[in-house]
Amino acid sequence: MNDVRPNNAPALCIKCKGTALILSKALHPDRGESQWRLTCLDCRVAWPQDQHGGDADEYL
Ligand SMILES: [Zn+2]
Repeated sequence: MNDVRPNNAPALCIKCKGTALILSKALHPDRGESQWRLTCLDCRVAWPQDQHGGDADEYL
């Protein structure tokens, strides 16, 4: 199983544009597959790593 971390391009919080982000692997509730997820330490918003740039409210 390929478990390589995604490329570490600079990521910004979708809400506060901060850079204090945690990258963690989580199981998608619907698809049943693991995915990388970013969580902001400042405002606690979490969103899928591969969907960042979307509307923040979608992932609250
Ligand atoms: Zn934030």
